[in-house]
Amino acid sequence: MRIIVIGAGVLGVTSAWYLARDGHDVTVVERASRPGEETSFANGGMLHASHAEPWNAPGVVWQLLRWLGREDSPLLLRPGQIPRLAGWGLGFLRNSTRKRFEQHTAVNASLAVYSLGLLRDLRRETGIRYDEAGNGILKVFHEHEAMDKALHASHLMAPLGVRHSVLDPRQTVALEPALEEARHQLVGGIYYPDDESGDARLFTERLAALAADRGVDFRYATAVEQLRLDGGRFQAVETSSGPLPADACVLAAGNDARRLAGRAGVRLPIYPVKGYSVTLPLQGWSNPPAIPVIDDARKVVLTVLGDRVRLAGTAEFAGYDSSLQTRRAATVLRQAAGLFPSLGEHADGCEPAYWAGLRPMTVDGPPILGASPVPGLYLNAGPGHLGWTFACGCSHVVADVIAGRDPAIAMDGLEQRRFQR
Ligand SMILES: Cc1cc2nc3c(=O)[nH]c(=O)nc-3n(C[C@H](O)[C@H](O)[C@H](O)COP(=O)(O)OP(=O)(O)OC[C@H]3O[C@@H](n4cnc5c(N)ncnc54)[C@H](O)[C@@H]3O)c2cc1C
Repeated sequence: MRIIVIGAGVLGVTSAWYLARDGHDVTVVERASRPGEETSFANGGMLHASHAEPWNAPGVVWQLLRWLGREDSPLLLRPGQIPRLAGWGLGFLRNSTRKRFEQHTAVNASLAVYSLGLLRDLRRETGIRYDEAGNGILKVFHEHEAMDKALHASHLMAPLGVRHSVLDPRQTVALEPALEEARHQLVGGIYYPDDESGDARLFTERLAALAADRGVDFRYATAVEQLRLDGGRFQAVETSSGPLPADACVLAAGNDARRLAGRAGVRLPIYPVKGYSVTLPLQGWSNPPAIPVIDDARKVVLTVLGDRVRLAGTAEFAGYDSSLQTRRAATVLRQAAGLFPSLGEHADGCEPAYWAGLRPMTVDGPPILGASPVPGLYLNAGPGHLGWTFACGCSHVVADVIAGRDPAIAMDGLEQRRFQR
């Protein structure tokens, strides 16, 4: 089959890879001049099935109100955005009941565990390197209540294959000695041994090169303006360089998926949630952790990627504005330096690279995968804060659906039709 993939982010490139492996004739259309230039560019680098909970946890509404308009908060809702959030925002809150949160956590966890298994297979099959590390991930806590909540989620995910061990402060520091400088702050940690880390952009770029070797045609600097349907069926994509007809199309356009699908009459309730990252050279920092660390209270993650350190965090409801606000970026660095004081000193002596990106977040948490109401149009969209973790799983599932195979995981809660009820 001739298939067009829209977008060369981590989801689009993994889609192209699996589709080409199935023997399809694949063209990837990307508006940037190379792969991985948008949200997959400088994310937190965490491959964490352990972090599968959607962000609309019970109680999120109080947290949002508490931090409303506060520029230094980890979760920022600008009052001016409230009217624009309208339908999506109400849906986001509606999905924050305990029952739905637990259902969506389970859907995400199954997908994430499946995805990490596929990533390991892909590594074995191709030898791809992306500053990866398989040291697990350590979540640290400053309050017992927060740790209890995380333990509840970890217990939910354990039967789905997310192993964890609970650590007191002494055990936490014994596992990761770099946390000695924060020992007095901690009430404990949870270690997830099967999680991994790696640079999503390096992976995307290198997998795109491998896919091109396999015959995938990458058309860069080409924007898709709209999808053309004929008799309600997908027929072609209209691009800045003219129409490209195909038998099928996989929409992996990150934050533009909603607009493109919407113009074809397919509703994708996805909203961009802004985040920041900071990248510093590793050399010169006296105390880097060997294990990637998530500070639950500060909502910041820290991981070593090859010879660099990547910090990421903050969630901001600011519409499609992906501009870099120095103050918000500095918040990420300050939060990380709260846990690792020596990192603050290190940052003063080097030039950190700041980046802002938009997480394509669905209203309920899980991504939107597989068939759409338009025959020939398939969806690989809305991975939110977990797109790097989910990438191989999402894209394999979509390739399965196109091939008419049963995906290895249940599709309940992942398909677009959940929004048609
Ligand atoms: C601060 C931050 C930290 C994060 N940390 C993590 C983490 O630690 N672990 C994790 O699992 N996830 C993390 N994420 C989430 C993850 O980065 C995203 O979910 C993932 O990168 C999304 O990939 P994508 O391929 O869907 O989108 P993108 O990478 O945005 O790719 C979409 C591509 O489509 C192209 N495109 C869009 N519209 C068009 C069009 N009309 N025509 C042609 N091309 C088009 C874009 O140019 C882009 O290249 C983080 C995100 C942020 C912002």
